[in-house]
Amino acid sequence: MKTSQAAANVLHKQWGSEAVQQYIGPFDQSYFAYAADESIRVNAASGGVITAMLDFALSSKAIDGALVCRSVVIDGRVTPQFFIATDRETLLTAQGSKYIAVEFNRDALPLIRAFNGRLAIVALPCDLTNLRRLAEHDADIRRKVVLMVGLLCGHNSRSELTEMVVDKIKPDGAVLIDYRYRQGHWRGELEAYFDNGEVIRKPFSYFSDYANLFYFCQQKCHHCHDHAAYAADISIGDIWSLRMKENPIKHNAVIVRTGTGVALFNAAVKGEAIRAQSEAIEEICEGQARSMPFHYNVSARARAGKKLGITIKDSVQAPVQWHELLTARMALKNEKRSRGTEGMKKVARIPRFILKLKLYVMKGLESI
Ligand SMILES: Cc1cc2nc3c(=O)[nH]c(=O)nc-3n(C[C@H](O)[C@H](O)[C@H](O)COP(=O)(O)OP(=O)(O)OC[C@H]3O[C@@H](n4cnc5c(N)ncnc54)[C@H](O)[C@@H]3O)c2cc1C
Ligand code: SF4
Repeated sequence: MKTSQAAANVLHKQWGSEAVQQYIGPFDQSYFAYAADESIRVNAASGGVITAMLDFALSSKAIDGALVCRSVVIDGRVTPQFFIATDRETLLTAQGSKYIAVEFNRDALPLIRAFNGRLAIVALPCDLTNLRRLAEHDADIRRKVVLMVGLLCGHNSRSELTEMVVDKIKPDGAVLIDYRYRQGHWRGELEAYFDNGEVIRKPFSYFSDYANLFYFCQQKCHHCHDHAAYAADISIGDIWSLRMKENPIKHNAVIVRTGTGVALFNAAVKGEAIRAQSEAIEEICEGQARSMPFHYNVSARARAGKKLGITIKDSVQAPVQWHELLTARMALKNEKRSRGTEGMKKVARIPRFILKLKLYVMKGLESI
């Protein structure tokens, strides 16, 4: 037995049906899947299922456009940009996860309103919930939006985190011209392109160590318990189960929720755009074993926040164990510490070995 498989067996959590219902919400089917077309997988966040499915929907005329998000660099700063792709070539420019705050209502809604045709929307859970609510009262949105694809989401980061990381790796005097958060297998690497021709590649941990410790976390995420995009027709995420680490093809976790989702996903599998294997929902949970229970437990953050002067409404009334309280306290404290220009400077000065140490402690607490 390979080492990571043995470790996976030891670390496997027990997922009760109540917990699954709370974390995942209503669903119909669950899969591990990947894009059949290798060229779609090259720049994908994970297995490229989102892009393969949207490409299939466009080419089979199930939709006229797909609202997606790319990152552009304006004046040396990474900026997320929503747009509507109507062909494969432009769709591909949106691949990869943008771990940077987005303004869906300000930037994406006007695009939806101005578009004349049927749309698939890709968005974070909070933005999809708002869109679903809006669609209930707005016939124009209801008519246009025919599919909602939700990203699984641990939390998102303020733009300052990206700026700090770019600043740390930037060659003297060079200006950033392109940036990718995560490329390649498993955790992958970040890639930064500069105007002097240099391309700097670093392990994704240069970014994710800060993000996983909740430095620069968006404050709205403290209040959120929706990890799995309850409002989506199809929710799609990564798989961080050790059993998948040695698989040469990175897969996506896929949760199909509604009739619309079932019809399109099954058609994309039948049309050989996506390869999918049915998996128990507990296997999807296992791929989010540490982040999902933490995310759901707003109660722990509400309690921890009291001592830190951060007011969080307890929207889930979940039981809070000692280790959950400690993890919540660490996360909130780190986020608070990273606020403002002074906060950014302080965090930038933390030595990497201290970051790693804090991360081991946090991961240990989350794994209990
Ligand atoms: C902030 C954030 C947090 C996440 N947290 C988790 C997590 O905790 N667990 C997990 O399993 N997965 C998480 N994901 C999702 C995961 O990183 C992948 O995006 C997902 O698995 C899709 O992979 P793919 O290969 O199918 O995507 P691709 O085929 O590469 O397509 C990615 C799609 O995502 C869209 N997109 C990227 N970033 C954003 C954004 N910020 N806002 C709106 N749309 C965007 C793009 O438009 C594109 O259509 C997160 C993503 C983001 C952006
Ligand atoms: S954690 Fe919740 S509020 Fe934060 S970006 Fe994700 S879905 Fe939105």
